[in-house]
Amino acid sequence: MFSSISKFENIFIIAPHQDDEVLGVGGTLCKLLELDKKISVIFTTDGSKGIKKVPGFLTKQIRLEEVSNVNKLLKNKLEITYLNFKDGKLENDENQCLEKLTSIFAQFNPDLIFIPNSFDWHPDHKASNSYTLRSLKEIHSKAKIYEYEVWEALQEPDLLINITRQSELKRKLIRCYKSQIQQMDFESAIMGLNSFRALRLTKSEIVEDKVNYAEAFKEAKL
Ligand SMILES: [Zn+2]
Repeated sequence: MFSSISKFENIFIIAPHQDDEVLGVGGTLCKLLELDKKISVIFTTDGSKGIKKVPGFLTKQIRLEEVSNVNKLLKNKLEITYLNFKDGKLENDENQCLEKLTSIFAQFNPDLIFIPNSFDWHPDHKASNSYTLRSLKEIHSKAKIYEYEVWEALQEPDLLINITRQSELKRKLIRCYKSQIQQMDFESAIMGLNSFRALRLTKSEIVEDKVNYAEAFKEAKL
């Protein structure tokens, strides 16, 4: 339930690419911002491989603009950090990425962190999951960690958040990533997944509001 995460104040979302934060956590993120929570997004890669037949430097620039449009819709409340490792090749920068994440977590000591799930087939997503967990372990973090869904659905999620009221805004945020939805219909795919997750939430919890969309998460332990 949302009440189990609404007490946290210093929230981080680790996103391998410029769109994962919205696809996986977009509704929950809006819900937390309504409570004036501090949310930081860390993009681990530069996103430079994200648009077919467009050179990397241009792709990076386009995706930066898209992130800025997302943040504008959210009244610029997101704190954004780019680690800028090469898109698709995060594994090659293992040590540098671990070092950067560890130093950020040591400095800001987050209490709630969202990360891609470990079953995700995308190597940058898998690596972002693993490097975040290892960095948090390094600083003996007590943060609550939840895995989110993008390319692979979670098995037995243990946190379902009703995002029905935020779903229109989530759609608008997804549409900010024009370069991505031109290549793949993420809006239908992700909102379809969120609609499916609503079935489970309606069945598993006493919910007063109508549930049409929900985001699913699974707790990860260090
Ligand atoms: Zn991604």
